[in-house]
Amino acid sequence: MRNPRFLDELRRTITDFPAPVLFPCRRGLRSASAARPAPSTGSHPRLTVPAGRPGPARPVTGSEDVAALPEHVRADVAGLESIMRPLGLEACYYGHAATGLLHVRPVIDLHSAADIAKLRQVTNEVSALVRQFKGSFAAEHGVGIARTEYMPEQVGEELLGVMREIKRVFDPKNLFNPGKIISDGRFRLDRDLRWGAGYKIELPFEPVLAFAAKDHSFVGNLEQCNGCGGCRKDAPTMCPTFLATGEEYMSTRGRANAIRAALDLRMTGDDPLRSEELEDALSTCLSCKACTTEGPSNVNLALPNAALIQARSKRHGPPPRCPCRGCACSPSPGSGPGRRPRTRWLVSVPSW
Ligand code: SF4
Repeated sequence: MRNPRFLDELRRTITDFPAPVLFPCRRGLRSASAARPAPSTGSHPRLTVPAGRPGPARPVTGSEDVAALPEHVRADVAGLESIMRPLGLEACYYGHAATGLLHVRPVIDLHSAADIAKLRQVTNEVSALVRQFKGSFAAEHGVGIARTEYMPEQVGEELLGVMREIKRVFDPKNLFNPGKIISDGRFRLDRDLRWGAGYKIELPFEPVLAFAAKDHSFVGNLEQCNGCGGCRKDAPTMCPTFLATGEEYMSTRGRANAIRAALDLRMTGDDPLRSEELEDALSTCLSCKACTTEGPSNVNLALPNAALIQARSKRHGPPPRCPCRGCACSPSPGSGPGRRPRTRWLVSVPSW
């Protein structure tokens, strides 16, 4: 049953709040602040989850799954703001406010050591804030890798000891999610990042496409894939090759990982443009652009694919069996489901 007083309070919180607040609805994320006039200037010109925002910084997870009792939402939001503001951080606020659950992601550049330190600080402080409200630090998305190290302070050593014992009884060989929830020290919030301090992709070619939608940059477009795995869902279209095969390397994320691996020289051969892994990524993409419209970060993987095919064709000539002399529509020999064990291993390495 709806509580009119609570809804009034919630509406006031949203209306007063300086940043966009988004709530999931049946047709996707909807701006709860749409009823108020749009600010003439501001740091959030688009009322979408700003994963595709310009620049290398983007909303990151870690402390983005907190919940408190609904009557504490206003104070919870104020507390989160007071954590972000001194660090000069913008944040993407959205959530299920009626249940007190907030998915607040600070906008952080994970290529920068200073920003990675901010991620650590924000997560530590949000963990303390949640305890203050006797809330949950992992209310919907699970503990996973990022929040495992916070389990002792969130649930206490005594309860964690009971959980450890239950895990030992039902999984004596520690086969299921080793190191997650019950920590063995291997996972840390700021370790094994997809990018990390100083990470930079050096392109072995000069892109000819404009990449106007994302920083005019090949790398910016490629890194727009945030690895959340939305392409593996049973969406109407995205990603059709994954839907048909169920293979990770046939998904949008798998392709982005394979392209990055090739450009990082983590592949076969000494020429990334001719690597087997890159061939897998390029030859099976349909260039349908469903990832652009249906993907949560709107990555357009057809663009880097086209740029790489152009660069490879320019340097080495078109693939021998491509009837269109250089396009992506004809897989070259050896590509396709069931053929690339190395690529499957490469893109299955967890990263976030
Ligand atoms: S353009 Fe390629 S990666 Fe994107 S949805 Fe289509 S097949 Fe998948």
